[in-house]
Amino acid sequence: MADLTTQEVDLGFDPDALRAKYRTERDKRLRDDGNEQYLQVTGKFAHFVGDPYVEPGFSREPLTDEVDVVVIGGGFGGLLAAARLREAGVTDLRIIEKGGDFGGTWYWNRYPGAQCDIESYIYLPLLEELDYVPQEKYSFAPEILAHSRAIGEKYDLYANACFQTEVTELRWDEEALRWEISTNRGDRMKARYVCMSNGPLNRPKLPGIEGIESFEGHTFHTSRWDYAYTGGDSNGNLTGLEGKRVGIIGTGATAVQCVPHLAESAEQLYVFQRTPSSIDVRGNKPTDPGWVKALESGWQEHRMRNFNTLVSGGVTDEDLVNDGWTDIIGNLIAISRSRKSENLTMEEMGARMELADFQKMEQIRSRVDELVEDSATAEALKPYYRQFCKRPCFHDDYLPSFNRPNVKLVDTQGRGVERITEKGVVVDGHEYEIDCLILATGFEVGTSYNRRAGYEIIGRKRQTLSEKWANGMRTFHGFQTNGFPNCYFMGVTQGGFTANFPHLLNEQSVHIAYMISHGTNNNVHCMEATKEAEDEWVDTIKQMAIFSKNFLENCTPGYYNNEGKPGQGNSLIGGQYGGGPVAFFKILQDWREEGSLQGLTFS
Ligand code: NDP
Repeated sequence: MADLTTQEVDLGFDPDALRAKYRTERDKRLRDDGNEQYLQVTGKFAHFVGDPYVEPGFSREPLTDEVDVVVIGGGFGGLLAAARLREAGVTDLRIIEKGGDFGGTWYWNRYPGAQCDIESYIYLPLLEELDYVPQEKYSFAPEILAHSRAIGEKYDLYANACFQTEVTELRWDEEALRWEISTNRGDRMKARYVCMSNGPLNRPKLPGIEGIESFEGHTFHTSRWDYAYTGGDSNGNLTGLEGKRVGIIGTGATAVQCVPHLAESAEQLYVFQRTPSSIDVRGNKPTDPGWVKALESGWQEHRMRNFNTLVSGGVTDEDLVNDGWTDIIGNLIAISRSRKSENLTMEEMGARMELADFQKMEQIRSRVDELVEDSATAEALKPYYRQFCKRPCFHDDYLPSFNRPNVKLVDTQGRGVERITEKGVVVDGHEYEIDCLILATGFEVGTSYNRRAGYEIIGRKRQTLSEKWANGMRTFHGFQTNGFPNCYFMGVTQGGFTANFPHLLNEQSVHIAYMISHGTNNNVHCMEATKEAEDEWVDTIKQMAIFSKNFLENCTPGYYNNEGKPGQGNSLIGGQYGGGPVAFFKILQDWREEGSLQGLTFS
């Protein structure tokens, strides 16, 4: 990286021209309907979210029993919460999970090439507890799913779990001081405490493209990959696509991973692109047995904290993970160091960060030129926006896929697909006839919590969570909301967002286990956030939004900026603690150490 501490450096690009180009590209994509452009996967689209991994016809007797804690969601969040609760001595618990097994996002997302973008040694939870070290630096989906199951076994979570069960309502019973949990299996079970980890990206969405329901070929969403049609498995070998014309809509992190496999097997692949992703080097490698032997107790937590510090703009002497994520942030660290030594103002620092960002994205764009032979295709694959406007991607085979004669990038110039017909996909008036249409169009983010969770929560005085959060989330530290006692949220609910999401889930699990075990040990009937504590935290969140409104407004639309409307709805980034995850985790730790559970009331 060039030293940006001096202005005389020849940057090799014109910042003003890039700024203007970014604006033009953003403007092409801004649309009045924002989040409303997407369709809910219900009604006539409900078949898009069936569970292809279980045998049909499952049934069981409804449950009306009571447990101390119900955990909703059997992904990493729910598994971690249950594990930390068990460690804290809370034994009477049950996980309710929509899928047929544990795994959450890794249960659903089994598309070919599915792989974790974050280093496996820090992403897979509870490695030391399970005495396991992943096989590669970046694990593929089957290994992550198997690890989820191993956590379930280790903490004895299968025994009382309810799989293939969807919660339909949570209702607080003010007389009994219990939550009543209704499900689609006819259950009316009770729990003293409820902990929800529904997943930030659990509800697939479809683009509201004219004619989407009229396509007569085969179609599915990437999160429910139809191997019965494509053949093969998560390693590829999609033999069912031989002789088939396949179209894929979307070029986000999911498409980047499955396109190389589609390219290998389909007779013809059309990749319909609205906005290109930034694709940095993957650099996967097998785990070094010598390194494993040398690991000392506490290594995983140390490594997680080291990564988290670096990707949060902090400074440490070592970079243990040393990959694309820490490299991206490395630029920014250099700037933060220069800020200290040169007494830069926030504006001066902001300007330098913008330059570092331009520089990194220039590198990403020149990588496209290196890897893609056709210059027009290469140009269309170059992302023109700041790196954290969209999720950065890492892959070594995606870009070269476009050199294959059977692969065509259909760039829609930011407008998106024009129409879907019975036979195919229309862009610029041209109909691309296909046999199979794959929707790599992502998941709901900016919609209401209840809509994404799939159930309503009815608290004290029959207040619903939808009413309470009609104008946005209101929580204390992201966990509890006034009026809803003994009810705990996990995930991206006003906490400290980090690139390594399971790290946040682990910190939240430890915190929730601390609160709930306090309740069970002290015979607390109701534990609730006070209105004052909640108001104060919401103010803090508002004042410290991670990225300035200005940054988000200048971004190309995506789920990070609420599809171009950062001031509205539940934008992912804007709703998080702006001090960053390191400071957030410290707030939680200090709060626990202080010991008086300030901000909560008990009865
Ligand atoms: P995304 O939301 O990231 O991508 C959806 C894609 O669909 C975008 O390219 C979007 O374009 C495109 N799209 C939407 N509507 C239209 C339309 N009308 N016409 C054409 N294109 C359209 O979903 P993904 O499933 O790719 O990823 C979701 C998230 O899952 C990631 O951001 C990441 O957080 C996570 N993930 C993580 C992985 C990991 O390694 N840990 C791997 C895969 C996913 P546009 O950009 O213009 O909106």
